[in-house]
Amino acid sequence: QRRTSSSYILLHHHTSSGLNSMGTRRVLVTGCSSGIGLAVAVRLAKDELRRFKVVATMRDAGKRGALEKAAGDSLNETLEIKQLDVCCEDSIRECVNSLPDRRVDVLVSNAGVGMIGPLESQSIAAMKELFDTNFFGLARLVKEVLPDMKRQQSGHIVVMSSVMGIQGLLFNDVYSASKFAVEGFCESLAVQAMKFNIKTTLVEPGPVVTEFERKVYEDAEKMDLSGADEETAKIFREVYLPYSKKIFSSLGQTPEEVQTFKVITAEDPPLRHQTNRLYVPMTALKHADPTGRLPLDAFYKMTFKHNSVFNATLGVLRMLQRRAGEK
Ligand code: NAD
Repeated sequence: QRRTSSSYILLHHHTSSGLNSMGTRRVLVTGCSSGIGLAVAVRLAKDELRRFKVVATMRDAGKRGALEKAAGDSLNETLEIKQLDVCCEDSIRECVNSLPDRRVDVLVSNAGVGMIGPLESQSIAAMKELFDTNFFGLARLVKEVLPDMKRQQSGHIVVMSSVMGIQGLLFNDVYSASKFAVEGFCESLAVQAMKFNIKTTLVEPGPVVTEFERKVYEDAEKMDLSGADEETAKIFREVYLPYSKKIFSSLGQTPEEVQTFKVITAEDPPLRHQTNRLYVPMTALKHADPTGRLPLDAFYKMTFKHNSVFNATLGVLRMLQRRAGEK
């Protein structure tokens, strides 16, 4: 059957703007059993304009309870739950194969794990495991969906990075390295993707209050610090942990405040989206001084020299954040 020219234009229009024939975009999100992944999946599913079909995936489908509850009426309407382990290529392929035409318009690579502590107390096996999720998980996902996006000449790859993907932080050596890997990967890929009309966005939150924080501190409490010298163990326990908990409780955002939804619905999404403006000066320090002395000195002083300055700064930041929230 021949298409009329107007229906052709309509279909063509839909294809080039990343919509399927139903006028909706299919968004695949990883790590949706909690936190930022759950929040964005639900926000997209409840879009007033019904622009999205959400494939909310999780490694363990048994943990679907919180998502089902939050999804409410949108469950099995605009949101479906599927199993996907980012550490397993077969699981990713199976999930994508189960979608009509294998079509994914927006990929949200969100699944990730944290790790803090002195390097001497962490095994290489644990570091590899973290990279397997945080970096290779992303690489596996992109390898699976990129060829189809290229054929469609449309798509958006949204990646949960972190401010620690721009600036390393004390006792976050391995986690930060994994997010630097994510940043380098996406920055490189973005140029090629652009040639195929595929957009790339790195979402860079500061602290967000989720399961992530709870798990990281829980692991830290149980951590065997005997591999580290006494001074290092003391800095970790008595300086880093209390500071870092304070930072989470004063500056931590909610998963909703990360506003991944805003990035996905943007007309012209940015390559980088820093979610917490209080962290912009921290990342700006790095770009202000190519020798790296400026951020190094600032972090050193903040950690080891000026307890009072740190606490005062935190107080001011907290006030600024409260004011911003009131606006
Ligand atoms: P979270 O622990 O609530 O969510 C992470 C999700 O990833 C969990 O549901 C977990 O089950 C899932 N996951 C872990 N391994 C997986 C695997 N192999 N396959 C599929 N899913 C897997 O934490 P969150 O804060 O919502 O974290 C989401 C992302 O945001 C992560 O990439 C994290 O690095 C990033 N991030 C978090 C913070 C923060 O402070 N919470 C800050 C910056 C960036």
